[in-house]
Amino acid sequence: MVIIMKPEATEEAIEMLKLKVESLGVKVSRTQGENCSIFGLVGDTSKLDPNHFLVEEIVDRVFRVQEPFKLANRKFHPQDTVIEVGNSIIGGDKIAVMAGPCSVESEEQIVTIAKQVKESGATFLRGGAYKPRTSPYSFQGLRENGLELLKLAKDKTGLPIVTEVMAVNQIEGMLEYADVFQIGARNMQNYDLLKEVGKTDKPVLLKRGFSATIEELIMSAEYIMAEGNQNVILCERGIRTFETYTRNTLDISAIPALKRLTHLPVIVDPSHAAGMWWMVEPLAKAAIAVGADGLIIEVHNDPANAKCDGEQSIKPERFDSLMNSLREIAKVNDRSL
Ligand code: PEP
Ligand code: MN
Repeated sequence: MVIIMKPEATEEAIEMLKLKVESLGVKVSRTQGENCSIFGLVGDTSKLDPNHFLVEEIVDRVFRVQEPFKLANRKFHPQDTVIEVGNSIIGGDKIAVMAGPCSVESEEQIVTIAKQVKESGATFLRGGAYKPRTSPYSFQGLRENGLELLKLAKDKTGLPIVTEVMAVNQIEGMLEYADVFQIGARNMQNYDLLKEVGKTDKPVLLKRGFSATIEELIMSAEYIMAEGNQNVILCERGIRTFETYTRNTLDISAIPALKRLTHLPVIVDPSHAAGMWWMVEPLAKAAIAVGADGLIIEVHNDPANAKCDGEQSIKPERFDSLMNSLREIAKVNDRSL
């Protein structure tokens, strides 16, 4: 972090500020320019807030040299994080594919879909038991019953479960059912929830908020990691832009950006990005081509009668052919599915 003083700052005030900054646990390297003094802060500045120094009358400008995130930062952890869940892996050479319905609806539905996606090569089963719906009148999920049905589907297929936790008080009851906790876009900045999942040892799939910047997404991952849980998977799921044709706009550049800035696995949700089933395949292919570590895709055996997000769900047969195409694309990046 660099702090630039105003030209009129007195020597006494500058030295006082130097002591104050040093009391925060960093070293100050002072440079005297032609018109002003400059402090270069040396040490861990990730816990310092630039705004904190702007309130000082003698300070003209403050800016960061390092990113404000440390644990998620590739600079301090050059190797890719690889997360193992049962026999499935996220990160590394293998592409992870999480597939399943938006929400669990019945035993027959979830077991049928789980078997089909497993057959096609999916490595995780997704399915919401607690659903964050825009309208309180929409289907809210089967809740505890949904978790039981996910367990049943896991028993039958061996696929680990990715499912959304919406509130702190759901965490404990979900520990036995979820293999990966999904934090939804609407909760990306629910800091209490992030801290609590950070205290568990379950991998966390953190979805980008509708209007969150790349840095805000990483800062949310940092919340989880700061509590001890280093197994965070970042998910680009489309953001709000001026475009209304698609449900959201898939920010394809977020993938190489996140891969460069952090060591965490990055996956893409083409279903929520597009909001239209026919766009899921091209976006999924693009995501793998651009270097994503995996995908989370909504698959439903009867989209027309789905209780949630049927319009953006692909049928199992399409999922199967998509997987075949993805295998070819993955090879180009020296990866496999
Ligand atoms: C979902 O995965 O079903 C979901 C609700 O996603 P998001 O939080 O990205 O909207
Ligand atoms: Mn959905």
